[in-house]
Formats: sequence, C-alpha cells, structure tokens
Amino acid sequence: MISVQNVHKSFGDLEVLKGVSLDVKKGEVVSVIGGSGSGKSTLLYCINAIEPINRGKILVDDVDVHAKETNKDKLRQKLGMVFQQWNSFPHMTVLENAALAPRIVKKMSKEEAIEIAKKELEHVGLGDKFDVYPTKMSGGQQQRLAIARALAMKPDYMLLDEVTSALDPELVGEVLDTLRLLAEEGMTMICVTHEMGFARDVSDRVAYFHEGVIAEIGEARQVITDPQNPLTQKFLSKVR
Ligand code: ADP
Ligand code: MG
Repeated sequence: MISVQNVHKSFGDLEVLKGVSLDVKKGEVVSVIGGSGSGKSTLLYCINAIEPINRGKILVDDVDVHAKETNKDKLRQKLGMVFQQWNSFPHMTVLENAALAPRIVKKMSKEEAIEIAKKELEHVGLGDKFDVYPTKMSGGQQQRLAIARALAMKPDYMLLDEVTSALDPELVGEVLDTLRLLAEEGMTMICVTHEMGFARDVSDRVAYFHEGVIAEIGEARQVITDPQNPLTQKFLSKVR
C-alpha cells in the first residue's frame, strides 16, 4: 500500500503540504479533489519521489520513498504516472511509444516489449491504432495512449493528475471509461480530478484538499453528495 504520513513540503518559503496523511490500500481508488494550488499535484510528485519532502514519511509497499538508500528508479517502476498533458514522441508510432519504456527501462527484448505494448493498447481500446502517429489522434486517444504506456510497465499503482482536464468535453468520457475499467480490474489508483461524477461513482474514497491539508476524506459518495466540512461544501457548490 501507499502510506503518506504527516508530510510537509515547501518550495522556498511557501509551505505547500502542511501535514498530509493518507493511506491507500491495494485495490483502492482514491480521488483527490480541491482548488487550484492546494497541493494536489505536489502530493503525487512527492509519492513518486520527483520532489523531496521536508518532514514526514511516504512508504510504498513499506519502502521509504525518500530514504537515501532507496532506489528511486526501481520505486518509480511500481508507480505509473499520467499527467494532464502527456506528450508522446511524435516521430514514433503509437505502438513504438507504448513499447519504449519496457525496452529502455526494463531492458526487455523488442519482441517482448512489443507484445506487452500491443496488449495494453488493446486494453485501452487502441488496438486498431498501432501504426498511427500520436499527433493524428484525438486528445482522448492520446491520453489513452499515455495510460497504456504507463500500464506497459506493469505498475502496482497508478497516479493520475487531471488526465481529462485538457480535453474537449466530448472526449472526457472515453478516458474516464478507461479509468473505470482499470478500477474494476482492481488497479490501485490515486486520481487527482475535477470530474465529480467520476470521483463519486468510481472511487472508493474522496479526499478534499484545501491549502495543503486534507480538509475532508471519506467514502466517495458521502463526501461528494453530503460533505461535512463547510470548506468542502463551498468548493463543491462552486464546481457544480
Ligand atoms: P494543485 O495541483 O493543487 O493545483 P500544486 O501542487 O501544483 O497545486 O501547487 C501548489 C502550490 O505550490 C502552488 O502555489 C504552486 O504555485 C506551488 N508550486 C508548485 N510547484 C512548484 C515549484 N516547482 N516551485 C515553486 N512553487 C511551486
Ligand atoms: Mg495540479
């Protein structure tokens, strides 16, 4: 599991995470909601060891993420990450993009990497796009490629940072459907999202971030439909 324990994180004088604690169990889907600048992305970067922390501890499968002796590259192989805007390599086909990390990072043979990449592209509904160049695809298809690329590394966890925020409204659904499928298959996920319907229906729990703290966390439907903290109530009344 992922265990975030009283994490503090500053950029210079700006304290962005002010004592965040969050346990995500295997198979659980947690959606993180909250206003812009509340620290949601920073939390994901700290879990992935992209950003160091100032205080507290983050464990992934009991490995201390920020300990000096921790092999960060090995750790990151467990954590698939997808961003809002994912730029695939434009000069490579969809299949080459999806096979790249297994080849380079996991040092798989070309055949093995291609086989896994094909499987994951089919998994996200891109089985007919192997030879297409990513720039020829819609934003929704490109985000599904990003998800397939992460899945090709066989991660134990997926960290998703607003993966539908840059998409035209009509393309959001196909990406959320892909995440829904992963959730049903038991993938453990932390999803930073502005899609309240998705948070309510697909996640097990929802955490509401406010100014660097988790102001409310609970069962997904309860937090979205009947928030207890006035701050959560105010946020939800604005985004709906
Ligand atoms: P969110 O994802 O909730 O919108 P972020 O985690 O991206 O929020 O950012 C939280 C705060 O930290 C913001 O005020 C942002 O400007 C600041 N911040 C994020 N990354 C950096 C950085 N690399 N250097 C300085 N400040 C940063
Ligand atoms: Mg963000």
